[in-house]
Amino acid sequence: MNTPQAIRGTQDIFGAEAEAFARVVETFETVRKLYRFRRAEMPVFEKTAVFSRSLGETTDVVSKEMYSFEDRGGESLTLRPEFTAGLARAFLTNGWQQHAPLKIATHGPLFRYERPQKGRYRQFHQLDAEIIGAGEPQADVELLVMADQLLKELGIADGVTLQLNTLGDAPSREAWRQALVAYFRDHRAALSEDSQERLERNPLRILDSKDPRDKPFTAEAPRIDDYLSGEAQDFFAKVCAGLDAAGVAWTRAPALVRGLDYYRHTAFEFVTDRLGAQGTVLGGGRYDGLIETLGGQHTPAVGWAAGIERLAMLVADAGEVAEPRADVAIVPLGEAAEAACLGLAATLRRGGLAVDMGFRGNMKKRMSRANESGARFALIVGEEELAAGEAMVKDLASGEQERLPLHAIPARIGA
Ligand code: ATP
Ligand code: MG
Repeated sequence: MNTPQAIRGTQDIFGAEAEAFARVVETFETVRKLYRFRRAEMPVFEKTAVFSRSLGETTDVVSKEMYSFEDRGGESLTLRPEFTAGLARAFLTNGWQQHAPLKIATHGPLFRYERPQKGRYRQFHQLDAEIIGAGEPQADVELLVMADQLLKELGIADGVTLQLNTLGDAPSREAWRQALVAYFRDHRAALSEDSQERLERNPLRILDSKDPRDKPFTAEAPRIDDYLSGEAQDFFAKVCAGLDAAGVAWTRAPALVRGLDYYRHTAFEFVTDRLGAQGTVLGGGRYDGLIETLGGQHTPAVGWAAGIERLAMLVADAGEVAEPRADVAIVPLGEAAEAACLGLAATLRRGGLAVDMGFRGNMKKRMSRANESGARFALIVGEEELAAGEAMVKDLASGEQERLPLHAIPARIGA
């Protein structure tokens, strides 16, 4: 019988790669506590309307990438392609307005039907941080400073740049949109097929195109700066000044737009050239209109999401994560010793030591496993040692060994 294969675009993450993945999540947990973000655990699926209404029908995610299906009750459900819409839904359905401004963080798997390649999967994982119910530029700044600290604590900030833009308020964005439509219409025939289609439906998205045929035109396209209202300029100036005050380096990226429709004002990405085409490790911005599209009151909000796989690749490339070594490897010889060593192993582990315990193969096999474990010490317990209530403590680096009473062992090896 054929073994069923994994689904295309999914990954089985194991060993050192899984250690890098865990490091990313642990560091995020540390940092989000420093910034006082509360934790949420969210469902992996929602009613399809949660995403189609908030992200916008014309976005790539909604039009081509969602995993939607009818459940047995005939309801259309979708595996979450992002966190923000579900968090906004939860904000409304749980009455979390009482906590506003709500600083909230989560992480977990997301699903998009994309063309799989390095750094782009159909099931991938994100870290996510949002401030819901805050219209002040300080909220944007706090999220950006937090993202910057996360990258620094992961040891991967070198070569990652913060690219910052503003999309303006609704009137600025609309005026810019019209100018973009007029400009791209003049070059219509030379654009990629996708962008020709975007021209009618969602022209800002042409700026986000990864097609080389579009690049020369996106570089020359009208800039948001010429269309910003005074209020929008003022907001953006405050964000920039806040970043400078916090010592966060950034560069202006006037053509940066985000893939989803709901963004206003601040838009940003942390980008590296070390991951090839999949260089955006973290992206986000302000989405003041989103909660209204889900039937809520006007609720300004801002947030970001980071791809855990992409961050983990940078962490692994920085050479930081090997699988952890054991402190001690226990090598029992004979059945009685095996039983006694279970107690010894438990004591050492309760004392905070990482312990490997050999229970397969002959003495030679067990010793070679002990050496592979990277442990500093092997504890060898044969019948003779057992009868004396002792163990042979072997320093695997120097080869020196001495016999010690079992009760003296934790102290000898540092437990
Ligand atoms: P892209 O332009 O690369 O498709 P996006 O705008 O769709 O990115 P977001 O929705 O902003 O991405 O997601 C935030 C982050 O999540 C991205 O910067 C990236 O690190 C990660 N990410 C997005 N899609 C994938 C995917 N299919 N596989 C792995 N990581 C992803
Ligand atoms: Mg995408």
